[in-house]
Amino acid sequence: MANPPDICIRGAGIVGRTLALLLARERLRVALVDAPSQAKGPDVRAYSLNSAAQRMLQDLRCWPDSPAVTPVHQMQVFGDHGGALNFGAQDLGAGELNWMVDVPVLEERLAAAVQFQPLIEVLSSPVAAPLTVVCEGRASQTRAELGVAFDITAYEQHALATRLRCELPHGGVARQWFTWGQVPGRTQAQAEILALLPLGGEGGHEVALVWSVHPLRVPHLLGLSEQEFADELAQACGIALGPMTVTAERAVWPLQLARASRWIGEMPGSSKQAFVLAGDAAHALHPLAGQGLNVGLADVAELVRVIQGKEFWRPLHDAKLLRRYERARQADVQAMGWVTDGLQRLFAQPGPVWQNLRNWGMRGFDRSGPLKNWMTRQAMGGDAPSAH
Ligand SMILES: Cc1cc2nc3c(=O)[nH]c(=O)nc-3n(C[C@H](O)[C@H](O)[C@H](O)COP(=O)(O)OP(=O)(O)OC[C@H]3O[C@@H](n4cnc5c(N)ncnc54)[C@H](O)[C@@H]3O)c2cc1C
Repeated sequence: MANPPDICIRGAGIVGRTLALLLARERLRVALVDAPSQAKGPDVRAYSLNSAAQRMLQDLRCWPDSPAVTPVHQMQVFGDHGGALNFGAQDLGAGELNWMVDVPVLEERLAAAVQFQPLIEVLSSPVAAPLTVVCEGRASQTRAELGVAFDITAYEQHALATRLRCELPHGGVARQWFTWGQVPGRTQAQAEILALLPLGGEGGHEVALVWSVHPLRVPHLLGLSEQEFADELAQACGIALGPMTVTAERAVWPLQLARASRWIGEMPGSSKQAFVLAGDAAHALHPLAGQGLNVGLADVAELVRVIQGKEFWRPLHDAKLLRRYERARQADVQAMGWVTDGLQRLFAQPGPVWQNLRNWGMRGFDRSGPLKNWMTRQAMGGDAPSAH
């Protein structure tokens, strides 16, 4: 890059790369700071992405092809005492509720697009720019260096993820169970959330597992052979899809609800440089509703929209400009935090009173018609901002 960049993006995850590509389309010069990956192998996860995320990635020609994308036509949620919820795309007159996207494939598509964009320079360390966007994920070092507090509530749950092959096809159905599991050293069973998410395209037999369990149960689950693990999983959720075979490594993430105390500010020592936080560097959610990246991509869409709407005389580091982004995103993220946290807490309450109440609530909600449809549309990203 002959000229200094307009914007320096720190962190080349999905949020950082998507933002870089959208900003380059606005003819801005972008420096993208990519740290060497700490991951030991390919990411075993698949993300549930909504229609706003799909539109944005399709627009950038980075939306993967089938079978790396699987449409979800139906979602079934099972409570811990007979409660059940059923969300169908058909009920809303839609083709699908959302899509399950293979994470390594999406990352590759974005990395390839970045390589072909002459206005993006990939660097190994940060450079000065009028605007720095921090997209370093929830453990962001830059956020800490900038003195921005990250208000963390750690859940007593870790997410264990892997992939499995099932005897029966998944039929485009995402299934989630709220259950209880025995934890070594505890007399009382602990709340768990188990999701089997369809993969491998329409008619596929593969599923991505996200099993949120008490941290003390993790060593036990990691120590099991593949067969023992599949058996224990079948015990927890039944064998809705027939016998299952593990096809990938098991990986674990500690879970937290977290939010940065502020999302914008001046860079230390320079009134002509500012920073903005986006994606998991600004907020982290429990994955039970599959919304973390959807919310991060909505940050990206809003930041791009604010920059597109910038008055010609305002510089990119202008505090008033950046406050438009902060204001627009904070309320949305807080609402999503309340929903996911509320659900997690509701299903973690032990005792028959809570059990009856939540399962009764699930049945009532399932029959609620317009309320249920409205909530489903929100999760589908129908009202979420898009880049254009
Ligand atoms: C088990 C699980 C399942 C999930 N499922 C879903 C789902 O179905 N749908 C959904 O929407 N979300 C889901 N999420 C949430 C999703 O993973 C995150 O919201 C998303 O990865 C955030 O993207 P990001 O780019 O902000 O951060 P990250 O993915 O954390 O990327 C940050 C990048 O910055 C780099 N980096 C870090 N520090 C530095 C530094 N100092 N300098 C330069 N680079 C740096 C990192 O190497 C990384 O490449 C799930 C999360 C978990 C744990």
